[in-house]
Amino acid sequence: MARVQGIKDYQCFIGGRWRGAESGETFESVDPFLAKPWARIPKCDQRDVDAAVAAARKALEKGDWANMHPSQRGKLLHKLGDLILRDADHLAATEVQDNGKLYAEMRGQVGYIPQWYYYFGGLADKIEGAVVPIDKADMFTYTRHEPVGVVAAITAWNSPLLLLTWKLAAALAAGCTIVAKPSEFTSASTLEFARLVEEAGFPAGVFNVVTGFGAEVGEALTTHKGVDKIAFTGGENSGRHIARNAAQTFKRLTLELGGKSAQLVFPDTDIDNAVKGVVSGIFAATGQTCIAGSRLLVHESIHNEFLDKFTALAKTARMGDPMDMATQVGPVTTQPQYQRILSCIEMARNEGAECVMGGKAADRPECGDGWFIEPTVFSNVSNSMRIAQEEVFGPVLSVIRFREDEEAYDIANDTAYGLAAGVWTDNPRRMFTAAKRLRAGSIWTNTYRAVSYMAPFGGFKNSGIGRESGQEAILEYLETKCVWMSYGKDVPNPFVMR
Ligand code: NDP
Repeated sequence: MARVQGIKDYQCFIGGRWRGAESGETFESVDPFLAKPWARIPKCDQRDVDAAVAAARKALEKGDWANMHPSQRGKLLHKLGDLILRDADHLAATEVQDNGKLYAEMRGQVGYIPQWYYYFGGLADKIEGAVVPIDKADMFTYTRHEPVGVVAAITAWNSPLLLLTWKLAAALAAGCTIVAKPSEFTSASTLEFARLVEEAGFPAGVFNVVTGFGAEVGEALTTHKGVDKIAFTGGENSGRHIARNAAQTFKRLTLELGGKSAQLVFPDTDIDNAVKGVVSGIFAATGQTCIAGSRLLVHESIHNEFLDKFTALAKTARMGDPMDMATQVGPVTTQPQYQRILSCIEMARNEGAECVMGGKAADRPECGDGWFIEPTVFSNVSNSMRIAQEEVFGPVLSVIRFREDEEAYDIANDTAYGLAAGVWTDNPRRMFTAAKRLRAGSIWTNTYRAVSYMAPFGGFKNSGIGRESGQEAILEYLETKCVWMSYGKDVPNPFVMR
């Protein structure tokens, strides 16, 4: 795919209108492969956030969206899915230019995104309350599920459209209105996507995009009195800060945060398969995924064989231009992240971990001026080391040996996080025991990095609160109201509870 040449100017999308930031200011978005700016993005502030929240509230409370039948909402979601499919090449190329992930992966990912809009579009008119068989005489009691209100959707830079979709499809199906804030590093694809929301015919104000910095725009959104719910994907510290902001007005909250997921390799597994699974868990997407399998727990009896085969395969990974379909490991998305990964590598060395592969910035000619790091493996890691406890968000694997199954589960669970785990075994007893023992939101057995619109996704412990995707995700965007209707003739004693 071709890159945009020169600098492309973007506008934000507020109340159905395209416009610059109130301040007139912009900031640049940088192509991580060329390490050069390619887009200019409006630098919004409190005033733009106020306007977007006001537009979202108006659309929520009055007008076409507020009065729309859920079946019609479902139709709009379907239409949006079709438009994404139509423009998938363009959207994927925009993501790649902005975040440096592989076109080969992003094209597949964007082509799959419509499924969320079809699935939740189908759910929109199946949000049913219940008649409660209440234990009081002459009383009819029922529940209604109503949209939670105005949702602030704040996303990270690694998969901007997918992370937005996980929030948006459920929120729209529920009848909410949304103000989205993409990462300052990757705003372009969300703005391109907003054009499709407009084309699909969603009423003005239902979906708004404000762009800018977390500390300014994100802060304004998460402290805003007009916002009812925050749906956030990002780092643990930002999540903690946002949860504090949310507490001030008791906003509803979903947090999808980081991870330090373990891949457990048992001696009865097919080693070649497991090697591929562990490579995909840590080096796909240059390790910049929340579900990166960044701790390899391998049984001591196969440790050496596994590591030899693993490094042999990992060394064949082709680095280079992420737009090239043959590239397997692309650049790191942002310069601060590039520096952070290098400092984590330094930290691991200082802790006494043994670097058996990579361990430095890549200076291969095919990497040009991009922010590339060699796929890196540390062995002889102990789980108490910082490299085994802290999320790197890069292509760095820590290898830990175990002897007993129980020891492996204990090590896997000995982390502040609980997003995912991989289990490699042919023994059904181990499969079921591991699925029960591991404290994480997704357990993959003999596979890794599988997600679906049908399957709930989210974290235990510091990896987050709430679930995205799957039927239960829609409940995150609904409030339950209980309605009591008395048809009795006698007024009961007013001084006691009924
Ligand atoms: P950050 O937490 O730095 O940023 C995430 C988003 O929050 C960005 O839009 C950012 O804006 C915004 N933000 C930052 N500070 C604030 C604030 N004070 N108030 C409101 N918004 C704020 O994460 P990264 O973008 O660096 O993403 C990497 C992290 O995301 C990793 O920890 C990763 O594990 C996690 N992640 C989790 C996933 C999951 O589903 N569990 C999936 C993908 C990533 P800005 O960019 O302008 O700073």
